[in-house]
Amino acid sequence: SLEKILREHSESSKEDTATDWNKNDFLWSSDLNDKLKSVFKLEKLRPMQLQTMNVTLSGKDCMLIMPTGGGKSLCFQLPAVVSKGITLVVSPLISLMEDQLMALEALDVHATTLNASTTTAEAKSIFDGMTNPKATLKLLYVTPEKLAKSKRFMNKLEKMYQVGRFARLVIDEVHCCSQWGHDFRPDYKFLGIMKRQFPEVPILGLTATATVNVLEDVKKILNIPKCQLFRASFNRPNLYYQVRPKPATQIEALDEIQKIIQSRFNGQSGIVYCFSRKDSEEVTSGLQKRGIRSGCYHANLSSQERSRIHHMWSTGKVLVVVATIAFGMGIDKPNVRFVIHHSISKSMENLYQESGRAGRDEQRSECIVFYRLADTMVFTEQTGLKCLYGILAYCLDSKRCRRSMIAQHFGESWDASQCDGMCDHCDLNSIYTSTTIDITNHCKNVLAILKQATETDQRVTALKLVDSWFGKGQASLKVKDIKVTTISKEKADIIIGYMLLNGYLKEDFHFTAYTTISYILPGPKANLLLNGNRQISFEFKVKALGATKTLKSSPAPTNTPKPSKESTKTHLSSNSVSHNKLSSESSS
Ligand code: ADP
Ligand code: MG
Repeated sequence: SLEKILREHSESSKEDTATDWNKNDFLWSSDLNDKLKSVFKLEKLRPMQLQTMNVTLSGKDCMLIMPTGGGKSLCFQLPAVVSKGITLVVSPLISLMEDQLMALEALDVHATTLNASTTTAEAKSIFDGMTNPKATLKLLYVTPEKLAKSKRFMNKLEKMYQVGRFARLVIDEVHCCSQWGHDFRPDYKFLGIMKRQFPEVPILGLTATATVNVLEDVKKILNIPKCQLFRASFNRPNLYYQVRPKPATQIEALDEIQKIIQSRFNGQSGIVYCFSRKDSEEVTSGLQKRGIRSGCYHANLSSQERSRIHHMWSTGKVLVVVATIAFGMGIDKPNVRFVIHHSISKSMENLYQESGRAGRDEQRSECIVFYRLADTMVFTEQTGLKCLYGILAYCLDSKRCRRSMIAQHFGESWDASQCDGMCDHCDLNSIYTSTTIDITNHCKNVLAILKQATETDQRVTALKLVDSWFGKGQASLKVKDIKVTTISKEKADIIIGYMLLNGYLKEDFHFTAYTTISYILPGPKANLLLNGNRQISFEFKVKALGATKTLKSSPAPTNTPKPSKESTKTHLSSNSVSHNKLSSESSS
């Protein structure tokens, strides 16, 4: 169709420009390569980094969309080091700036920030550096508020511009400009005047998530209609994505993790991410007892202890680091063969980034998530419900390609057939398949428990709800007419998650001085279910019957033959054939 031709045309021309800029014959190219190694201690650039650097070093406006953890900062830090003058970086959060400043300090790159806590003396030295041609300052970080509110600072920028020291303007998290985006910051709007004030200064905008709407809006707001746009793919073809139901007890969870590590990753390096410090300590000693050389890493350990573990892991003396998210910065071990999430991350971005520490060497590696509802309920205090439900939807899905879901999250168009069997839902050898079950009555029972609780003035957490459903816990929460359910705890968990996601249940948060409690209430759609004749069926993931095909004893080489389109089709139909066989077993 015409549409298809147009689309292909625009994609190929996009590729042309990306190739055009992917060159090493610019005036700055050899300096850039030298400094990459000598200053940043990195071997080579990642996809789209060179293109972005070349555009901005050519003095042109550019926007780069790259997933979190992809390496956006280097795209302006390295150009800042090879450029004359100062790179002004606008960043929405002081904490983000501090992370970068710390890393730059370790590399001996002169960078600083100007904010409310800057002393007068420091400010004076910064202002001097802005206009003094002998100054060594390379990067200056500010919040958009600083730009919008400080006339004095704008005045200094004018001077810096006049003496030719305003090398470029970098806007990190550039989607914050747009009201269409998910975290609009009014002060980012002010950045619209920068192009008018400083027409010769190239603007570089960076973001991880941007839809077409947001991008068009951002271009308009910043007055850079012709900026070069690059999009680095979220796709990491060598990573195999998988979600598994998390066993009910810690011991069972540890047994399963042990089995995975010893059967498939024997002698290989990996990371196990845990929710809390306490969890990571428990899991470390559990794995150690099971004969797996592991070390623990979290923010409450001394920095010596942390670098000791990191070092032992880097050198292979410890194979598994069991960590909280504190284990993140500066991890560049290439041969990480697996990342296991003992508890789910707090957002899709986090999950993507943490999983992405596997397989930097481009060899096949696995990213395994253990999911259970209770683990997602503890995050609500730090993160928005939207993040939480995003990851809940990812975990509960029993059919869609994991890559498609990640792509959708990052606003990238993606053809599921390109997954090549590298996720649990596309994998022809997966030991899991799905089976559809009518859950209407289960949902009604859950709502009946809540109704009685409301009538008797009781509040119910997800945990108590499930207990009552299983005939356990407080007698006052039990409902006479409901038979104790015979489904598995795992399925019960999934049903509650499904009901939350789909508006049959909702959470009601209560904040105390120490913690946030989430109570469960009937959701806005509860009545549709209770009063109407709505049927709900859900596709559960189940272990395939006769799945004798045990998992590969060692990770397959990256060049395993790829399943053809035909075999994908056969897979789908054989799946539905085995369906009947499965559903009889699955309700146990
Ligand atoms: P983003 O801003 O896109 O989320 P960062 O700029 O914080 O990502 O970079 C994430 C990590 O990737 C950092 O630890 C950084 O040192 C590392 N990194 C960036 N570019 C490269 C590269 N070319 N080679 C190796 N590591 C890199
Ligand atoms: Mg960043």
